[in-house]
Amino acid sequence: MLTLIACLVVGIIVVWMLAYHTASALVWSLTAGVALLVLAGAGILTGWPAAAVWLVSAGIAVFSTATPIRQKFITGPIFRIYKKLLPQMSSTEQEALEAGTVWFDGDLFSGKPDWNKLLAYPAAKLTAEEQAFIDGPTEELCAMVNEWQVTHELHDLPPQVWQFIKDKGFLGMIIPKEFGGLGFSAYAHSQVVMKISTRSGTAAVSVMVPNSLGPGELLMHYGTPEQKNHYLPRLAKGLEIPCFALTAPHAGSDAASMPDTGIICRQMFEGKDTLGIRITWEKRYITLGPIATILGLAFKCYDPDKLVGDKVELGITCALIPTSHKGVNIGRRHYPLNAAFMNGPNWGTDVFIPMDWVIGGQPMLGQGWRMLMECLAAGRSISLPSQGIAAGKFASMATGAYARVRSQFKTPIGKFEGIEEPLARIGGNTYLMDACRTVTAGALDMGEKPSVLSAISKYHMTERMRIIINDAMDVHGGKGICLGPNNYLGRAYQAVPIAITVEGANILTRSLIIFGQGAIRCHPWVLKEMKAAQADSLQAFDDAFWGHIKFTVANAARSMWMGITGGRGVAVPAGADTKRFYQQLTRFSTAFALLADTSMFVIGASLKRKEKLSARLGDVLSHLYLSSAALKFYDQRGRQADEFPLLKWALYDCAFQIQVAMDAIIENFPNRAIAFVLRRLVFPRGMTLIRPSDELGHKVAQILINPSAARDRLIQGIYLPNNEQDVIGKLEAAFNAVIAAEPVDAKIKAAKKAGRITAKGAEAEADEAIKLAVITDTELAQWRRARMLQHEVIMVDDFDASFGKQAVDGSYWQQVRAAE
Ligand SMILES: Cc1cc2nc3c(=O)[nH]c(=O)nc-3n(C[C@H](O)[C@H](O)[C@H](O)COP(=O)(O)OP(=O)(O)OC[C@H]3O[C@@H](n4cnc5c(N)ncnc54)[C@H](O)[C@@H]3O)c2cc1C
Repeated sequence: MLTLIACLVVGIIVVWMLAYHTASALVWSLTAGVALLVLAGAGILTGWPAAAVWLVSAGIAVFSTATPIRQKFITGPIFRIYKKLLPQMSSTEQEALEAGTVWFDGDLFSGKPDWNKLLAYPAAKLTAEEQAFIDGPTEELCAMVNEWQVTHELHDLPPQVWQFIKDKGFLGMIIPKEFGGLGFSAYAHSQVVMKISTRSGTAAVSVMVPNSLGPGELLMHYGTPEQKNHYLPRLAKGLEIPCFALTAPHAGSDAASMPDTGIICRQMFEGKDTLGIRITWEKRYITLGPIATILGLAFKCYDPDKLVGDKVELGITCALIPTSHKGVNIGRRHYPLNAAFMNGPNWGTDVFIPMDWVIGGQPMLGQGWRMLMECLAAGRSISLPSQGIAAGKFASMATGAYARVRSQFKTPIGKFEGIEEPLARIGGNTYLMDACRTVTAGALDMGEKPSVLSAISKYHMTERMRIIINDAMDVHGGKGICLGPNNYLGRAYQAVPIAITVEGANILTRSLIIFGQGAIRCHPWVLKEMKAAQADSLQAFDDAFWGHIKFTVANAARSMWMGITGGRGVAVPAGADTKRFYQQLTRFSTAFALLADTSMFVIGASLKRKEKLSARLGDVLSHLYLSSAALKFYDQRGRQADEFPLLKWALYDCAFQIQVAMDAIIENFPNRAIAFVLRRLVFPRGMTLIRPSDELGHKVAQILINPSAARDRLIQGIYLPNNEQDVIGKLEAAFNAVIAAEPVDAKIKAAKKAGRITAKGAEAEADEAIKLAVITDTELAQWRRARMLQHEVIMVDDFDASFGKQAVDGSYWQQVRAAE
């Protein structure tokens, strides 16, 4: 009996090891043969049970090693079922799925991320010219803008700011130098947008949009030489203001269902019979629309008279139309949550455009969706993520400073444990977001277009922006609520939902895109299986399917083992402080691969409709990427010990979120028997991960409420004027003054406690402290300065009783149009 149990244990270990190391079919067969011989030789497996086991093992060996037999009897029938089950994809879905490239997300899906490869990727860097632009014109632009004036009084940027933006080339950051643009890297572009966002959301969006998905980018990639030569230099210098119109009233998130149509026809144009398109459209929410001079327009193109080929339905097409063109209605404004950037609808009925207004000309008819998806694959990781991190950095600076300056119960509020919690969330999330932005921009600068990682960046940077701004508002209390020139937070709070909604609304991005696209694009086998089915190639399917099976079995074995060991023993990059994090992430990557595969095998094509499950799988993938980026960021910044609490907070939080998401996946898995097995494989020791501890949170909060190199690095890149007349300059000055005066305060308090100072009221106490030589004149001056700045910082604006009744006398653009 004992021998039998020992054999069973050895057998399980061997099977586990073979699975763990993804052994080939030949190795499995040979091992099974040797095991059976040993068992027979030892007299353990004899008689008819032995014969049965031999027969089954031989059958498996033949099927797994003899390809033609396997394909005929096993893979073939599976292939036929697979082809029937494979959902029909529309061309727009297919183009969206295939857009962009796979980068480190492929590693995370593999269950075995190559950390050394990640660390070896070059870090994003600024050139001297880019740095000079950030220190020069960007800083200057920030100094020129007063967001209260812009959002409350002008409802627009002042004319001199617009002119400065155009003259300095802000609208052409992504346009190559040969066309007169700045030709900046993705990282530089993100640094510029980030800095401006910390000063003015209006200016940031106005600069962001022409550099984001729109005419400029589409022309650079797909424009004809004539279009490039004409438009790019004009866009770079701000001689043309672009906008891009995709969204229609009945086609928001499902933009590909737009009802806007273009019919290919011939018509007289500028006195000549011309081949072109007659377009009817209605778009809304279009940023810069009200002031645009060229309208990028997406519509569905049809060729009923077969003037350009034999297809009637050509598909989504993008054209560039001068807004002065007859029939284009544009200029009206929406009012998006008190933001003052230009945004509005546009429409037209049977507007004829010549064929050479199609971006890329006639050959690009019907290619619009692919063009948009390709550009979005990269662009989504710059603009909104930069705004998100701007909110994080700004809130870290301002909330930390305010929490030190503002005292209640005779204590700076930042020293209360209750305030430490939101401060820690602000600091930890800001570090994580900075890492994600920097590492993803670095990938873009290496030529990647990581579509899944871009979606992750957009979603998580804007969601964390929401968390951070809410926390910052709570810490500021009434100071954040009363709007006016002295409120530096309220407008950011109002603008959060805009970032959440645009460039792929967040619920949709989480529920449908991150895992939905990731599962197909980044998985080592799924796309190969799908392509094999499309090509009707049994050979290719056989390779992919059995590769997929081995992959899943290996991940099951690895997941359980690493669940037991917590990933200990897995080879990871050196570094005592970070080693365990890499090991845990490897463990989670394996468990994620297992959960993803099991979900796809069990639920199949209807996984697309199981949005809650898909969203949670996306959460796991996202937090794996965010953690990986944080580790790389820490490494590429020279592993600074003083910022380790920030890294640790971020990684603990991500690991906990991964655990929460995995738990919810298993808890809600439709097949309960499989859920039972999954729980044992993924959490063999239960759910052992904890949130960032209170002690860790305290350390992070300390970074925010004390001047330090770690704080400086965390908020690096924001607009921080060295000017006490400026609302933010004053806050930073008050922060430093209050800290410098704390020892003076302590002396006065000690003298009061000892009964030496008996006066009542702060000023009287200070006077007595001077008389008694408790403090020096210099210390008194320091103390008075701190109190003055503190008072100014905590004050909010109040207005005349006629507030809000003044008419707004029109914006700069209305004046320009009126003058025209
Ligand atoms: C200020 C602003 C600026 C903009 N600028 C531009 C621009 O310059 N050019 C342009 O073309 N467009 C622009 N847009 C449009 C923007 O891209 C859309 O608002 C966005 O795509 C969402 O569409 P919608 O507002 O119609 O929401 P809807 O599509 O109606 O979505 C409503 C909600 O349903 C969710 N949802 C939808 N489908 C699903 C699904 N399958 N699963 C789960 N949830 C789902 C969404 O996530 C959202 O939460 C702008 C919008 C705003 C508000």
